[in-house]
Amino acid sequence: MIGKIHKQMSHDSWLFSKMATPEYTPFVFLLLLFQSSVWGFPSCHATKPGMLNVHLVPHTHDDVGWLKTVDQYFYGDRNDIQHAGVQYILDSVVDQLLKNPDRRFIYVETAFFYRWWKQQTDDMQNTVKQLVNEGRLEFVNGGWCMSDEATTHYSAVIDQMTMGLRFLNDTFGHCGRPRVAWHIDPFGHAREHASMFAQMGYDGFFFGRLDYQDRNRRMVAREQEMLWRASESLTPPMADLFTGILPNGYNPPEGFCWDQSCDDPPIRDDPDLEDYNVDDVVTRFLHIAHGQALVYKTNHIIMTMGSDFQYENANLWYKNLDKLIRYVNQMQSNGSEVNVLYSTPSCYLQELHRANLTWPLKGDDFFPYADSAHDFWTGYFTSRPALKRYERISNSYLQTCKQLEVLGGPISRKGPFGAGDSETLSKCLVYTLSSHSSAMAVAQHHDAVSGTEKQHVANDYARKLANGWAHCQVLVSNTLSSLSGSSAPRVYCEHLNISVCPLTETSKKFSVNVYNPLARPVSWPVRLPVNGTAYRISDAKGKAVDSQVELLLVRTTYSLSTLLSLSLSISLYPSLSLSISLYPSLSLSISLYPSLSLSISLYPSLSLSISLYPSLSLTPSYSLYPSIIISPSQSFSPQPSSLLSLCASIVTLRDFLSSLFCVCLSRYNASDGNNSESIQMSGAYIFRPNTSTPFIISKTNSVVQEVRQWFSPWVSQVVRLYTDSRALELEWTVGPVPIGDDLGKEVISRLDSSINSSGVFYTDSNGREMLQRRKDYRPTWNLRQSEPIAGNYYPINSRAYIKDDKDQLTVVTDRSQGGGSIQDGSLEIMLHRRLLYDDVRGVGEPLNEMSDIYPEGLVVRGRHLLSLSPPATAADTHRPLAQEVVLQPLITFTDGELHPSTRLEFSGLQAVLPPAVHLLTVSQWDQDTVLLRLEHQYQASESKEHSQPVTVNLQVTSSPWRYAPSCSVSGRDSQSPTSVPELANDQSLWLSNYELTASIGCK
Ligand SMILES: [Zn+2]
Repeated sequence: MIGKIHKQMSHDSWLFSKMATPEYTPFVFLLLLFQSSVWGFPSCHATKPGMLNVHLVPHTHDDVGWLKTVDQYFYGDRNDIQHAGVQYILDSVVDQLLKNPDRRFIYVETAFFYRWWKQQTDDMQNTVKQLVNEGRLEFVNGGWCMSDEATTHYSAVIDQMTMGLRFLNDTFGHCGRPRVAWHIDPFGHAREHASMFAQMGYDGFFFGRLDYQDRNRRMVAREQEMLWRASESLTPPMADLFTGILPNGYNPPEGFCWDQSCDDPPIRDDPDLEDYNVDDVVTRFLHIAHGQALVYKTNHIIMTMGSDFQYENANLWYKNLDKLIRYVNQMQSNGSEVNVLYSTPSCYLQELHRANLTWPLKGDDFFPYADSAHDFWTGYFTSRPALKRYERISNSYLQTCKQLEVLGGPISRKGPFGAGDSETLSKCLVYTLSSHSSAMAVAQHHDAVSGTEKQHVANDYARKLANGWAHCQVLVSNTLSSLSGSSAPRVYCEHLNISVCPLTETSKKFSVNVYNPLARPVSWPVRLPVNGTAYRISDAKGKAVDSQVELLLVRTTYSLSTLLSLSLSISLYPSLSLSISLYPSLSLSISLYPSLSLSISLYPSLSLSISLYPSLSLTPSYSLYPSIIISPSQSFSPQPSSLLSLCASIVTLRDFLSSLFCVCLSRYNASDGNNSESIQMSGAYIFRPNTSTPFIISKTNSVVQEVRQWFSPWVSQVVRLYTDSRALELEWTVGPVPIGDDLGKEVISRLDSSINSSGVFYTDSNGREMLQRRKDYRPTWNLRQSEPIAGNYYPINSRAYIKDDKDQLTVVTDRSQGGGSIQDGSLEIMLHRRLLYDDVRGVGEPLNEMSDIYPEGLVVRGRHLLSLSPPATAADTHRPLAQEVVLQPLITFTDGELHPSTRLEFSGLQAVLPPAVHLLTVSQWDQDTVLLRLEHQYQASESKEHSQPVTVNLQVTSSPWRYAPSCSVSGRDSQSPTSVPELANDQSLWLSNYELTASIGCK
C-alpha cells in the first residue's frame, strides 16, 4: 500500500536531534538466537567488521487481494484498477537471479507462489529448487498470506501458516524453511502473533508500521530493534522473539526506487553519455546510510529495496542495484567505510546476533497504530462487520468439517452425497484452491478480514468462503450419513441468524442434528423459524425436550412481518459415546501448561439428533410476548448512576445482583474531514468521530423473558436470558444506517456499570491471552493523546472486560470488533460503520456497503454475551464461553420421519477433556495420518482452578479410526521432550513447536 506508506514516511524523517529524550527506561535482555539451529547461513555474503554494512533486501509485497482479487493480482488482470501481476514478477525475478549469483530475493506469500509453481515445467521447478538451495531465493514468513493481526483469530492464523509452511517444506525441504517472520504491512501488531511466531520457531520478526510517537522515541533511543516477550504465561524464552522495525516501512529509501512503477533516475554510469550521475547517486546513498545508522544499534543496517507488486520487470531493479553496490563499494579505496551487499532478512538477523548486544525488552503490543496525530487506524477493527462474522463462522464450519473428515474416514471424501474435500493438504501436493481451507487462509490476509479491501474484493472473499463450505457440506453429509446409518438428504440452513429456514418453516416433521466440535459438554440454544404453534420434541433417548414458541417481529426496511420462532436448549454431552475399546499400549501422558499448546490425541465430539413433531392440538403454550410496553417516558440516561431499570430488572433475575448496568446503542457521526485540527476523514482504515459525545438513539421498549429494545427503525436489540446460561445475550441488529443527512455513522454498543474501573480495561489478543489497556496511556512511551475516542480504541477479537475488586463485567463477541472504555465503568464496542468518504490510505472507496439484497445499505446482526462474576472466577466463565462462540455446534436438518434404524447419537470421545484443555485441531494430514492439537486455554494466574498445569491421559481408541485396524501415536512435548517419542517420518515437526505436533498413523 504505497499510499499508506508514503503518508507514514513523512513522519519518519530523521529529526531525531530535536526530540526529547524519553523517560522510559527499558529492561534489557540478551538476544538468544538460533539456539537450536544447525543452519549455518552459508549463502550470506561476507560483511566487513570495521565498516557500516548496508544489507539491501530485494523484495515485493504482494497483497493476497486488496484493490483486485487474489486471482486478478496473480494473472495481472484488471490493470485498469492497479498495475500488478504476480505471475510476471516470479517469472522475471527467477530469470534475473540466474543472471548473477550475487543477487538475492525473498518471497513471502505462498498463496501466490503456489499458484505460480504448479504452472512451471519440471526443468523450471528444478531450477528454482537450486536457487532456494543456494540461498539466492529465500522464503520469509511463508504462510499462505501475511495475516492481519487485529481482526484474526489465532486458530485460523495457525491454519493458514500451516498451509503455507507445509507446502514449502514438502516442496523444498529444509532449505525452504522460513527463519524470519515478515509482517511489513499489517496496521499494528498483536502480541499473540509474536508469541505464535516464537513458538513456531522463527528466529526473528520484522515489520514496518508502528505508532509515529513510538517510532520517534525508539529512533532517538536506538530501540528500533528489541526482544519481544510475547506471553505472560509461557516461561521465557518460549515466547521471546527478536523484533526489528524496518527503516522506511517497507519501501526503498527516497530516490532509490528502480521499479518500472517508480520515477527515480537510473544510475547513468557512462561518462561519454549525458547526465552521468554516479557521484551524485553514491553521495546521496552514503548520506542516507549514515543517517540511518544513527538510529540503529549495530554497524549493520537493512534497506528494503521494493514495494507493492514490484519486480514485474526485475531487470530494472537488479541492473541498478548491481551498479549501486559496485560504485558505493569502490569508494572504499578512497577511505569510505560503507559496505553494501545483497542480503536477506535472515542474513541481516545473523549479523545482529553476532553483534552480541543487549536489546530492550517489549512486553505489550503495538496497538493502536497511528501515523499522525489525528490518524488512528482503529476503524478497521470493525469495518465490514458482516464479512468479519462470516469469516469467523466459516472457521467454525471448517474445524467441524475437518473433524468429521477424520471421523468418517474415506467415506467422508467419497460417499452417498458425492466427493468432498475439507482440505487442501494431501500427499501429492495438490492443493484445491477452491477448498474451504484455502478460502479461509486467503481470508486471513491483512486486507481481507480486516475489511480494508474494495467492495468487489470483499465479495470475492465471501464467495470463496461460500464455495469452500459447499465442498465441506458434501463431506459432512457423507460422514453424518455413515455415522447415523441414514442417507436421508441433509439440509443446511445458513440463514438462521435472520430466521430463515424453508425446511423448518414448512415441514410437518423434521429432525435436527447438532454436532458439537468441542471436547466437552455444552448447552446450546437453538432457535428455529417454524409455522406451528406448539411442538413435541424428543431427544435421542425419546425424552421430551422443553421448548417454547413465540411470535417474532421481523422488521424489514419496508414492512413489519411476523414469524414464529421455536426456542430450545440442547445439552450436548460428549460422554454419550459409542462403545470404545482401549489399547493400553498406545496410551501416553503429556503435561499441559497454561497457554502452552500441545497436541496429541483426538477426541471428537458428539452428534445428536432430535425429532420435532408439530402438535396439531392447540395448546395454550402459544402466546404473544411483546405485549408489555414500557412507556417511552422512561427516558434513557447515559449516566451510570441513573441505571436503566429495564436492564436492571433483568439483571437481578440472575446472579448479576451486585453490579447493575445498562446497555445502550449509540452512534458517532464520522468526521468528513472538515475540521480545524485535521482534514482526516473516517474511512475503512481510520476511525475519527467528529465529536467526543455519542448521540443517544431514541428508543421504546417491550419486555418479556426477553427484552426488546427499539432504539430507532434501524437499531434494535433483544436481551435474552436462557435459563441454563451463565451469560446474558444481547442480539443487536443495525442497519441500514441512514445517510440522508450526509453524515457517515459508526454505531456502538455501550455498557455502563457501577464498576470502578479506574481507566483500565482489558482486551484479548487474537482470541488468546488478555492485555491490560489504560485510557490515554501506552506502557512504553509517554503518549500525547490527540484523539480521545479513536486513540483509545483497541481490537477485540473475542472478548473485553472491565473490573474492580468485586466485579468483572466481560463481553464475549461473535466476531472481531473495535472498542474502548472511554468513561470509568463503561465499555463500548463498535458494531457497524457506514461512511461516505475514502480515508486516503489507498483503497479509494468509501466504506458504504450495499447490495441487491440490501439496496438501502447493509443490515448487520450479531451477539454479545455478557457475564458478571467476581474477578477471581471470571475466566472460568469467559474462557469456555468464548470457545463456544468460536467453535459453535453445527446444526443440520432432515425432513420427515427418521428410519427406525437411524443411530441418533455418536461420539468419538470416550471421556470429556479437562476444562483447561481445548481441542484446537483435528484434521486429516494425509491418507494415513491425522494432525491433532490440544492447548491449555487458560492464561497464567487468571483462574485459581484452571490456570494450573494439566496432565491428560490419552488413549487411542479404535472408534475414530474405524477403517484402520492398527494405529500408533507419536508426537513431542516441547516442555519435556523426552516424555513422548519423536515422530518417525515427520515433516511437520518444524512447522511449529507452537504445540506438540502429533500424528496418528493408521495403516
Ligand atoms: Zn499489504
